[in-house]
Amino acid sequence: MVGGGVSGLTTALELQERGRPVTLVTPEPPHHTTSVLAAAIWHPLLRRPDPVYLRRATTALHRLTALSRRPAESGVRIRTLTEFSATSSEVPWWVREMSGDNLARPAPCPPGYAAAWTLPVPAVDADRYLAHLAERFAARGGRTEHRLVTDLAAEAGRTGAVVNCTGYGSAALAGDRSLSLVRGVLLRCAKPEGLQGCWIDGSDPRRPTYVIEREHDAVLGGTADPGLVATTVPEETVADVLERCARLVPAAAGARVLEVRVGFRPTRGTVRVERDPYIPGLVHNYGHGAAGYTLSWGCAADAADLLDKPH
Ligand SMILES: Cc1cc2nc3c(=O)[nH]c(=O)nc-3n(C[C@H](O)[C@H](O)[C@H](O)COP(=O)(O)OP(=O)(O)OC[C@H]3O[C@@H](n4cnc5c(N)ncnc54)[C@H](O)[C@@H]3O)c2cc1C
Repeated sequence: MVGGGVSGLTTALELQERGRPVTLVTPEPPHHTTSVLAAAIWHPLLRRPDPVYLRRATTALHRLTALSRRPAESGVRIRTLTEFSATSSEVPWWVREMSGDNLARPAPCPPGYAAAWTLPVPAVDADRYLAHLAERFAARGGRTEHRLVTDLAAEAGRTGAVVNCTGYGSAALAGDRSLSLVRGVLLRCAKPEGLQGCWIDGSDPRRPTYVIEREHDAVLGGTADPGLVATTVPEETVADVLERCARLVPAAAGARVLEVRVGFRPTRGTVRVERDPYIPGLVHNYGHGAAGYTLSWGCAADAADLLDKPH
């Protein structure tokens, strides 16, 4: 296993559950990866129907929901998400699909919005969750090597089986030119009094607005900035996020900012979960963009299936 973010850790656990011994190779501990900077709620983002995406997201939904039964240990809690759409009165395709499970319900639509609905979703405290996955991995006998991999073919040749979960690292490691980075700014804030639940308005793809209650703080966001690589954030951006969040959720008005976080989503047209066409024993699982948690257990299961299946 190469990569120790949410994709690498989840895939490592999936393989261990299938009885495989796993060594995880990563230069950085989980709390230094992009994954720790995520919001990180379960939330499908696709605007067009995609059954593979929905199947993967549904697998993750069930696994995360199971983990939410031990919230202090796993960092996963089920919270009510209220989603607003300013642009379409139709709820998205995936919400209609999930409604089959009686998950999504229409919600009162505030002025300025065309539709609103609620559904219970797993909300993940990324720091605790990644630590929990790493603890489970080690408890099952998993070994970690802290080093950079420069040659996947050599790695696969030496071990016989490798899953590449290196996120944006795959641009260099797998020579994938279709990968890009989409910067995201979010604010970790002191939990405002009375704040309960999660809210999101993703109508503007460059300025998604969300407020997420966590156990000890709250996350307010956000931005999606393709092409921006600066890690310092101007005051105006922080003020804009706070202003949008207060408009969406009055209880978030005046939230005290504890930390401004900047992360880079490893983005691709579609997630790459496939066997490498040239290197025997190598399976890829990267390019999850803004949905690394939402797809985690589904992509991990698919990657493990590919490794298990004979060529
Ligand atoms: C602001 C923000 C908010 C987000 N909110 C959400 C959300 O609400 N819900 C959601 O589902 N997703 C969300 N995401 C997206 C999510 O964070 C990513 O999709 C996810 O973190 C990708 O995880 P990963 O494990 O694939 O990659 P990473 O976390 O980047 O991990 C890659 C790993 O590979 C290792 N690596 C890289 N190159 C090499 C190499 N050459 N050799 C060895 N190891 C290497 C790295 O050290 C690291 O351990 C958000 C992202 C951001 C930035």
